[in-house]
Amino acid sequence: MGSSSHILIVEDERAIASFLRRGLSYEGYRVTVADSGRLALETARDDSPNLVILDVMLPDGLDGIEVCRRLRAAGDEFPILMLTARDDVADRVAGLDAGADDYLVKPFAFEELLARVRALLRRQERHDDSPEDLIYQFADLKLDTSSRFAYRGERRIDLTTREYELLLLFIRHPNQVLTRDLIMERIWGYDFPGESNVLEVYISNLRRQLEAGDEPRLLQTVRGAGYALRLPPD
Ligand code: CA
Repeated sequence: MGSSSHILIVEDERAIASFLRRGLSYEGYRVTVADSGRLALETARDDSPNLVILDVMLPDGLDGIEVCRRLRAAGDEFPILMLTARDDVADRVAGLDAGADDYLVKPFAFEELLARVRALLRRQERHDDSPEDLIYQFADLKLDTSSRFAYRGERRIDLTTREYELLLLFIRHPNQVLTRDLIMERIWGYDFPGESNVLEVYISNLRRQLEAGDEPRLLQTVRGAGYALRLPPD
């Protein structure tokens, strides 16, 4: 995955901080959490991270926007991804004015955050002229991350946003069993409805499209464990 980058998460809400830490660690990033603006400024100075994820709402009278301003005033050039409350346009504008590179509105799905993180880190590595591979492939299945089309052989498949995110998660972790909780958390976010059957519905829609040309099943149910993108047994 080529991602030993160090990410500093600045968030006082434990559930969200640990949701981010788990997901980013799983992707191979080195992760530090700061639960206040003051600690964030210290950590950024001592440990120069490659990217900062910064929540606007922080305790102790030092909010994310002020933290962002101070980081930029100190001359730090790492990308800053701001987390803002739903529909708070003022926060978004203030964040970008203060020097944030991008923002994400809560609640968000982990895959969406990951896409922003990867894009920001890529932009940062301007000297690196070998761009990340934009087409994932598994057997005769391809997923093009620029057009967001999937292909089964030559057959093109149009995906909704959620279907795309779901398939991207599987194709980035081929042959691995992904548990229901992990998938729900990654695609539907940290406040997903625990008891809903939304995942089963999406899996079945996705299968219908991936198998519309009578191709063999690649999205397998692993009984009692979860789902895996893998070749059918002979
Ligand atoms: Ca917060």
